[in-house]
Amino acid sequence: MRNRIYLCLAHMSGEEQKFIQEAFDTNWVVPLGPNVNGFEADLEAFVGEDKRVVALSAGTAAVHLALIACGVQAGDEVICQSFTFCASANPIKYLGATPVFVDSEPDTWNMSPELLVEAIEDRIAKTGRKPKAIVPVYLYGMPAKLNEIMAVAEKYDIPVVEDAAEGFGSRFDGRVCGTFGRYGVLSFNGNKMITTSGGGALVCADDEAKREIMFYATQAREAYPYYQHEHVGYNYRMSNICAGIGRGQMTVLDEHIAHHKHVCALYKELLADVEGVTLHENPSPRYDSNYWLCTILLDEQLHVRGEERAYCQAVQGAVGGAAGVTHGGGALHTDCEPNPNVEAMRVALDEAGIEARPLWKPMHRQPIYADAPAYVNGVSEALFARGMCLPSGPCVTDDDVRYIVEQIKASIV
Ligand SMILES: *Cc1c(COP(=O)(O)O)cnc(C)c1O
Repeated sequence: MRNRIYLCLAHMSGEEQKFIQEAFDTNWVVPLGPNVNGFEADLEAFVGEDKRVVALSAGTAAVHLALIACGVQAGDEVICQSFTFCASANPIKYLGATPVFVDSEPDTWNMSPELLVEAIEDRIAKTGRKPKAIVPVYLYGMPAKLNEIMAVAEKYDIPVVEDAAEGFGSRFDGRVCGTFGRYGVLSFNGNKMITTSGGGALVCADDEAKREIMFYATQAREAYPYYQHEHVGYNYRMSNICAGIGRGQMTVLDEHIAHHKHVCALYKELLADVEGVTLHENPSPRYDSNYWLCTILLDEQLHVRGEERAYCQAVQGAVGGAAGVTHGGGALHTDCEPNPNVEAMRVALDEAGIEARPLWKPMHRQPIYADAPAYVNGVSEALFARGMCLPSGPCVTDDDVRYIVEQIKASIV
């Protein structure tokens, strides 16, 4: 029997234990310490551009703190890419602000610069105020049209918070993603490019910005011998144990990125002659995706075994199920879901021991954001209807990729 093949499983370098042992030996089992400093130094060396990095408890925390540092308050508006994981948008809600969703363009699947302009102009016309920040996302590792987005942001003088949670190690024009905006969000959750078990980081411009983020990440303590609070802070600093894992992972970061790219190249080769299946790739040499997850689109005309039975049965934790925290018992359908052939292929792969997943469901189609303003062109919804993520992580072997493509072909009728 084959082992089940997962989308992106964590993979240890072997160095992690050494850093963790050191933390125990020196009694640094707290949310600060030598591993935190060491991990931040490693991250700063990697991202370059003379940036500073703050290690945090999660990528979501990094989004939250970046928005606070951009001055986002209750009643403000923040522009956010609609086609993303909820963690890009939820911190806007945490602050009592309103997300304004902007749809994607078809080349990178990320924020459309044209719609961004339209959204900014229209929000100014309707509210008399500028949105407080712009949150573009690098979906599945693909850089956005950064030259155009940064030009728009500069023109309107609105800070950019790059959500590079999936794009750690991706580059645009040779420059590391997460270093273009005022802040850059990284994630080291269990399934990301590298992991600290759970964790994240915020890329900042300089020491002053770093200090401000650290202040809010450690309960906003003022400089007194007692606890004096003049701002509301958070407990978002990374633990020294997690940072030890991070230091070990940094020794294999380049290897992981190379492996994800290799897996994508192999999918490209093997899927080349499969009609109706299209791999998502860098649109031009300016883009250098880390290919965190390889993604495909299925033509609507493609027929997949079992598609007439798609969505007939409630799924037990297709996504989020590993943590056992999904709500059960909903209806079988929503008014925005992947096409039946996509769901049928997911089920066929699942039965063959392969984890595959739909793309992110656009935020402007999520019930929690039904009332949020949205500037849409149909691109993210169309991609969501046709797309699927394939196993791409460091534990996926060449043999696995061959098996996965065989099973994709076998599912097509
Ligand atoms: C994973 C992810 C995050 C959040 O990171 P966590 O470390 O899981 O909190 C934010 N945005 C996107 C697009 C992500 O994929």
